[in-house]
Amino acid sequence: MNQNPQSLSLLFLSTPVGALGTGEGGGVELTIKNLAQDLRHTQHQVTILAPSGSHFEEIPIEPIAGNRQIPVQGEGRNAGIYLPPNSVLGNMCDYARQVQADYDLIVNFAYDWLPFYLTPFFNTPIAHFISMGSMSDALDQIMAQTIERFPGTFGVYTKTQAETFPFADACRCLSSGLDLGLYEFSAAHEQSLVWLGRIAPEKGLEDAVAAVQQLGIPLKIFGWLQDQEYWQQILSQYPNAPIEYGGFLSTTDLQQEIRRCRALLMTPRWVEAFGNVAIEALACGVPVISYQRGGPAEIIRDGETGFLVQPDSVEGLVKAINRIDEIDRWACRQQVETEYSLSALRDRFLAWFDQILYPSSVPPFQRGVRGG
Ligand code: UDP
Repeated sequence: MNQNPQSLSLLFLSTPVGALGTGEGGGVELTIKNLAQDLRHTQHQVTILAPSGSHFEEIPIEPIAGNRQIPVQGEGRNAGIYLPPNSVLGNMCDYARQVQADYDLIVNFAYDWLPFYLTPFFNTPIAHFISMGSMSDALDQIMAQTIERFPGTFGVYTKTQAETFPFADACRCLSSGLDLGLYEFSAAHEQSLVWLGRIAPEKGLEDAVAAVQQLGIPLKIFGWLQDQEYWQQILSQYPNAPIEYGGFLSTTDLQQEIRRCRALLMTPRWVEAFGNVAIEALACGVPVISYQRGGPAEIIRDGETGFLVQPDSVEGLVKAINRIDEIDRWACRQQVETEYSLSALRDRFLAWFDQILYPSSVPPFQRGVRGG
C-alpha cells in the first residue's frame, strides 16, 4: 500500500472480453485509458490487469493469459453465468487476490458476474464501474446483492443507464471525459457523414446506411467489426449505399478522420450507457445526430450541438441531416471543454474513491447512494 496519504495505489481490472487497444471492449477501453493516464500524471499509482495482447502507449499493463469472456450483449436476459476453461477473468481475479495488499482500492471495469460475486471474499475494497445498462437477470441479481452489502461502490456513466437497473438510486453517475489535447477542432468539413463504434446489431448501423442511401451523402464507418454476419446483411440489403468502411483506428488517426466530417450519426437500438464517440466527435467540432435514447440523449443539446431524433426513425435522421448546417461547430467543441474535461472526470472518480475508502467522513446525503 502507498505510504503517501495524498497518493492512491489503484488496481484496475479491465474488461475480460478483449484485449485493450483493439476495440473489442468498446467505449470502456477509452475510459480506462483516459483515467489511468490522468491519475498516473497526478501522483497516483495505477496498475491495469488486462487480457494478454493488450497495449496502450505510455501505460504499463500487467498481461493476464487465458480465454476471454463472451460479451453479454446479444446473449439474452435469461443467459446463465459463463466461464470458459482457463478463464482470463478467473485468472485476473486470482492475480488481484494475490496482490491486493499492495493496493488501496481495486477498480473493477469487468461487466461480469465473477468480480461481483467475489467482492466479499477480498480484504481490499472493490469499486465497480458498470459500463452498460441492464443486460441479464443473473447479473442484475448479483449486482443487487453486492450493492446491498457494499453501498456506495457502484459507478455508472449516466442516469438513463442507471435507470435500467432495479438499484438505480444506489448508482453514482460519473459521466465520461476526454483528453482534449488529442482532438483537434476543425471549422471546415467535407460532405461525408461518419458513424463510429462496434459493428454489432445493438448499434443499429443499418438505419444510418438507409438514411445516407436516401440522401446520396457518403458515410464513413470506423470501428471494430464484431459481427461479420450482421455486416454482410447490411451490405446485401444496401448494395449501392455510399458507404466506406475504414477499419478500427487509433484515437490519433480516428480524430483526423472525424473532424473532416459533417456530422456523426448514432443509431443505438439499446440504451447506450454513454456513447464515448459522441463526445469525441463534439471535441472535433462535429455535431451529433442521435436517436433520443440512452446516454446520447443526456449529452447532445438538441438544436445546439446536434439533433435528437425519434428512436428508430430513418426519416427523423434524414430530416436532421438536412438541418445540420444550423449547428455551430465551435459550440460543439465548447460543450466538451466545459462538460467533459479529463481533469473533471478524474475529480469525480477520486471523490467516489474517497467515499468508499473513508465513508464515515462524508455525510450520507452527499454519496447519492441508497441507505448510504
Ligand atoms: N473507436 C476507436 N477506433 C475506431 C472506432 C471507434 O478507437 O476506429 C472507439 C471509440 O473511441 C470509442 C469506442 O470505440 O471509445 C466505442 O465506444 P462507445 O462508447 O461509443 O460504444 P460501445 O462500443 O461501448 O457500445
